[in-house]
Amino acid sequence: MGLKSPAWYRESLRDGRVTYIAGESVPDITKNPWFDVAIANAAEDYVYDDPATKDIRTYTTEDGNLAHRIFKVPTSVEDLEKRIEMSHITGIATGVTAVLMALYNIKDQVAKVNGQYAENIERIYKHCRDNDLRADQVITDAKGDRSRHPKDQDDPDLYLRIVDKNNDGIVVRGAKLHITGASLVHEQTVMPTKAMGPGEEQWSVSFSIPTNTPGIKIINRAYAHPNLSDMDYPVSGRHNAPEGFVIFEDVFVPWDRVFLAGEYQLAGVLAQSLGLWERVGGLIGMVKRARLLVGTAQLLCEMNGIEKASHIQEKISDLVFYAEVLRMSLEHAVRNYKMTDTGMVYPDPMAVNVGKFYGASNWHMMVQKLHDLSGALVLTLPTEADYRNEELTKYLDKYLHTKNNVVVEDRMRMYNLIRDLTADSFGGWELVTTLAAGGGLAAQRIVTMREYDLDGAKDAAREAAGITHTAGKRAARV
Ligand SMILES: Cc1cc2nc3c(=O)[nH]c(=O)nc-3n(C[C@H](O)[C@H](O)[C@H](O)COP(=O)(O)OP(=O)(O)OC[C@H]3O[C@@H](n4cnc5c(N)ncnc54)[C@H](O)[C@@H]3O)c2cc1C
Repeated sequence: MGLKSPAWYRESLRDGRVTYIAGESVPDITKNPWFDVAIANAAEDYVYDDPATKDIRTYTTEDGNLAHRIFKVPTSVEDLEKRIEMSHITGIATGVTAVLMALYNIKDQVAKVNGQYAENIERIYKHCRDNDLRADQVITDAKGDRSRHPKDQDDPDLYLRIVDKNNDGIVVRGAKLHITGASLVHEQTVMPTKAMGPGEEQWSVSFSIPTNTPGIKIINRAYAHPNLSDMDYPVSGRHNAPEGFVIFEDVFVPWDRVFLAGEYQLAGVLAQSLGLWERVGGLIGMVKRARLLVGTAQLLCEMNGIEKASHIQEKISDLVFYAEVLRMSLEHAVRNYKMTDTGMVYPDPMAVNVGKFYGASNWHMMVQKLHDLSGALVLTLPTEADYRNEELTKYLDKYLHTKNNVVVEDRMRMYNLIRDLTADSFGGWELVTTLAAGGGLAAQRIVTMREYDLDGAKDAAREAAGITHTAGKRAARV
């Protein structure tokens, strides 16, 4: 019980979990170089003795114990602000553990359908919180032919489903794709990918089980190869977490870990419990990256002597507009927070979805501006190893010189930052992730149109047009 340490976290991963990467089975991920950076990042979130971060990383539970703040259900605007501050010092493997906080908050809704499931949610939440465990968000199914319901697919396992039920529990089969940090967490927390209807009981399933449960196999995919140079890969060489293709091959789940097993009317409630928080996380990341784009563009242009050119200033101001709209969306979302019946405070969904949509749909355009002002060195700059080769250093120092107050190595670092962030393996990952993670653009359109006051807007149009009659007096009101 209680807060754990980085050493404890590393040791906890040596539990027989079945994982693969680059075509090979990995018997112990703590000894595999593909996982070095990811595990180091996740372990950092177990550093609780640093006075600079302790207050922001922890909170006191109702039992009087300290726990990681990722488990804190926000009940005030201060809680929301601290959560955002925490996310700046938190790795992704801990970030995804927010799934348990989101689940905990809907337990009363779940209780109306099945009290046992609600008790299970509360117990697993407290078990993870009080033992400082990490969980992931295991939601997206393989989905097969998107135009067909789960029950109409060629293979019924294309959506994870219950294949057996007995007195002790359920047996599930299927696969969940793209799961962030799947091999780095202790609990696989599974939820339906979407709302289900009558006839879809076997696909209406949710539970949480330890990662080393027999039958779970995780195929990892990482954008960052092992042992990347810090200078060549300043972003992906320091931070990464592989995504997992998580296979459930007839996995037994005891009843005390089941949150849903057939009551299809709850599938949508569980699926949606997390959506907003995923997008809040996405928006926080975009605010940070947009500011980084502005700073990177400005600094490189100053190094290259082009910062006063009007077409450059125009591009940089476009980046500033982008960064500021995102920052203001997040700020507005927090200031105009909402509250659930159970007292949980959450950011304004309209501002979050509009911000996430705007950020995702314009990221590619902002990257284009950065590339346009950077030039080809983004791709062709020699590597750190070339620069450290004594035969070559003098040539790079000579021909990468721009002006006396610019150190060539610093200029190289700027180009590496741009390449790594936007044009290499991580950059490509980021282009797709910005769009897909937290649901694609279509998902944000749905929420935005649901939240928007269309009737109010129509009234404004009527007033502007001088339409004064009301419903009933004339033919049906449009
Ligand atoms: C880096 C990364 C990390 C991720 N992490 C996680 C995670 O931790 N946990 C998790 O559960 N998921 C995760 N995801 C998955 C993410 O939530 C999904 O990618 C997203 O929901 C879209 O699903 P999809 O990839 O299956 O694409 P699809 O659903 O195939 O969507 C592709 C396109 O098809 C359209 N489409 C889909 N269905 C229909 C339909 N029926 N009718 C019309 N159009 C349709 C969509 O609108 C979209 O335009 C992650 C994704 C990425 C890229």
